[in-house]
Amino acid sequence: MNFSKAALMIHRRLHLFVLAFLALPVALDSQAADQAEQKQPQVFGYRDFSVQAKIEEKFLVIPSARLAGQHLKTLTSEPHLAATPGDRKTADYVAAKFRTAGLETEIVPYRVLLNQPKEVRVEAFDPSGKQLMSGPTREHVQGDTFADDPRVVMPFNGSSASGDVTGEVVYANYGRLEDFDELARQHIDLHGKIVIVRYGSNFRGVKVYIAEKRGAAGVIIYSDPQDDGYYKGDPWPIGPWRPDNGVQRGSVQFLFKYPGDPQTPGTASTPDLPATSRISGDDNQPHIVSIPLSYADAAPILRALKGPGVPQGWQGALPFRYHLGSGGVHVHLVSHQDYQLRTIWDVIGKIKGTDDPDHWVIVGNHRDAWVFGAVDPSSGTASMLEAVHGVGALLRDGWRPRRTLLFCSWDAEEEGLIGSTEWAEQHARDLDHAVAYFNVDVGVSGPNFSAAAVPSLKQFIRDVSKAVPSPMDDTVFQEWRANRHNLNEHRQSNAPQQPGEEVPVNDLGSGSDFTPFLQHAGVPSVDISSGGPYGVYHSAFDNYAWFVQNADPHFNYLQQMARVLGLEAIRMADTDVLPYDYTAYAREISSYINAAKRKADDAGFSSIDFTPALAAVSRFATAADRIRRLQDAPPADVAQLNSALRQAESALLSPEGLPNRPWYKHTIFAPGEFTGYAAVVIPGVNEALDAKDSGRASQQLSVLTQALDRSTQILENAH
Ligand SMILES: [Zn+2]
Repeated sequence: MNFSKAALMIHRRLHLFVLAFLALPVALDSQAADQAEQKQPQVFGYRDFSVQAKIEEKFLVIPSARLAGQHLKTLTSEPHLAATPGDRKTADYVAAKFRTAGLETEIVPYRVLLNQPKEVRVEAFDPSGKQLMSGPTREHVQGDTFADDPRVVMPFNGSSASGDVTGEVVYANYGRLEDFDELARQHIDLHGKIVIVRYGSNFRGVKVYIAEKRGAAGVIIYSDPQDDGYYKGDPWPIGPWRPDNGVQRGSVQFLFKYPGDPQTPGTASTPDLPATSRISGDDNQPHIVSIPLSYADAAPILRALKGPGVPQGWQGALPFRYHLGSGGVHVHLVSHQDYQLRTIWDVIGKIKGTDDPDHWVIVGNHRDAWVFGAVDPSSGTASMLEAVHGVGALLRDGWRPRRTLLFCSWDAEEEGLIGSTEWAEQHARDLDHAVAYFNVDVGVSGPNFSAAAVPSLKQFIRDVSKAVPSPMDDTVFQEWRANRHNLNEHRQSNAPQQPGEEVPVNDLGSGSDFTPFLQHAGVPSVDISSGGPYGVYHSAFDNYAWFVQNADPHFNYLQQMARVLGLEAIRMADTDVLPYDYTAYAREISSYINAAKRKADDAGFSSIDFTPALAAVSRFATAADRIRRLQDAPPADVAQLNSALRQAESALLSPEGLPNRPWYKHTIFAPGEFTGYAAVVIPGVNEALDAKDSGRASQQLSVLTQALDRSTQILENAH
């Protein structure tokens, strides 16, 4: 949408507000007053939205598509891998924009363990010793000069081990738990083997984690054309999909154990942190080599594999029949990784709140990229900068938020959510009463809006999306609802679909910076994205030329995301009563427990007693209904009510954390140990059931019951 259309829409809405107001003074009898009240826009959390409505209208006209496009162009003008000079330049750029907008701004350094590649090599040989391939081949397509930049880092995995190994090759499909189990069923031993898996379905670190557990000596992770290449559509530079030599870099950290600097879980890696405060970090990084590969390089290996044919569903889109392997195709992997403590830079911009300065509303987006990162994450950064531009205009107008607003540009997200995790660990106490964390990462790869959120904020993000115009001449919400079937594979979960929802909001698993906020610190969080066909993820082709051709030629969706992000922040910062919907939360938790009970019944676990947990969630639901009535008719002094609303979320954290991964403290949401991106709901219980451990399932049900009881009590005592 162009500027004038947006302004027109905003004008129309403002007009309605004004009409509602004019009606009030002439309403002489109570019936007319009721009617007037019905016309008055009601926004959950506000006693009277009229002042805020004007602030929001003012904000919405400021974010500019043209300026967002300029930010994107500047941010993607050179590669900006974490801890490199290019990264530092983007930090300075973001800091300058924050300062111009009037934010109190600082660049916050951390010293963290990061690997950069010195040598990465893959060679394959057939049983006779004839060489089949040698790679990785440099990424290149005709006409894309960005990808030819000598500063493009060679394909590698963050957190990969160094090593020089040779072994026979076995194909393991997506490298899911069930894929490795299928190989075991077929008596294919993985000890000393090189496992070749394709990208997709789960987080790449999970693939390497399971391969290592099963005895593999190394892993090749390649991009099959079925998943994001020519099988989906035309490859870049004709279309948006992955060309034959495009490689997906990425971290293989075991982030489902804990994210951040591998050597400092729970502690911030400040520059002055003594070496004695570091641990080895062995527990959250693989000990075997893993190397990412394009399908141009993987095809000769896969084609040469013999042995059993693949099971149903394992065949990819390369033009030959896939086999599991055996009988002599060997691969030689060389990976020399330079591990060092390196300096990274978060940029933090602050606007102090007038009424509740200690209650933070945090907006965050990472800034580092594997290469140019036009979509991931620079589209998010460009949107955040235009949101900040809009907030700056409000500041110049004299507006100040009631609660403190923080805009955060995280570094080293790609290596394992490092900048956000270190900062969150440093500010753990402050986060106890932070009221929301709003994330954007892969901001724009196309027109399909989607969101993931904690259940208490699902209606909040729907409501915000109703107030923002879309480039299609209606609202973001209307477009979202119309296109809701375009799923984002990283954001699915095992949560049952809730009946009667206007539009589904996904659950938060992991793979981006909301993780330390929600799952470690208990800050209610939302993640937004505007998606489309995107086959160049983490390759040198995710660059400005690709973005302009495929994602958002006129930057209208960058503008849209700036508006949504800014509105989330402004609306949350100024609410009278925190707009958390605990009724929805209760409904979801109840459905999770019932689904787990069915799973236990189906598995024949008659010893597990779900009665106390079901009773606890039913009490939680009653308390949620009561607090909703309080939120809708709040007392004059809302301080205690707001504090209770916030603490009810923290009460869902368990002090001891999840079994075998104590850093993850949330009893309702975690990244799955065997999924990584997708959320596992009531993770303690569900993962015990999946592991067929009925004793642990019972114990985790009681942890969940206690968490619900704590939260219920806080809601019941609110006044
Ligand atoms: Zn990202």
